[in-house]
Amino acid sequence: MNIISEIPPGILNQPFFDSDRPKYMNYGAMGYVIGHEIIHGFDDMGKQYDKDGNLFDWWEPASNKSFHEKAQCIVQQYANLTNEKINMTLNGINTQGENIADNGGIKLAYIAYQKWLQRNKVEPQLPGLKFTPQQLFWIAAASNWCSKVRPEMEKLAIMNDFHSPNYYRVIVPFINSGYFAKDFNCPLGSKMNPKYKCRVW
Ligand SMILES: [Zn+2]
Repeated sequence: MNIISEIPPGILNQPFFDSDRPKYMNYGAMGYVIGHEIIHGFDDMGKQYDKDGNLFDWWEPASNKSFHEKAQCIVQQYANLTNEKINMTLNGINTQGENIADNGGIKLAYIAYQKWLQRNKVEPQLPGLKFTPQQLFWIAAASNWCSKVRPEMEKLAIMNDFHSPNYYRVIVPFINSGYFAKDFNCPLGSKMNPKYKCRVW
């Protein structure tokens, strides 16, 4: 969502949120969405508006320059991804605002969960699963976008949707996060922990 970001209260349900489940699930799933919407205020569109919602360039020139360089990294990163099944490359330009929001949003949610952990005890793991609470944060975030899409729909989405396809909404922000690599012990240089990462926020 651009310019006006909304979180309808009806979304506060499974799989995004449940008051009766571990917080790492809520921060991963709902926190990711809330963080995403907050970052929209500071993506390529949102940054063009001031605190009162007026179209006004309030950024220092150096900040503007830095933003564009970092955003360009995201544009290029997504533009270099090809969905092999349908042989289509993502449109990094059209999706840059959503991608910036995804990448910054998961980071906000993660930091918020770390702050919660400073004030509270670590909760139990989920029964029958060997994952740590930190790992379950990421799994809950990923489960937001679990879906099955026909190739025709996937093609249409890549052409028209301002969001990246769901698979990439998970995999790329995780790849760009050093926190994910740490929590899953991904060696530097492996697929999920490349040396070269993009970060706007
Ligand atoms: Zn959005």
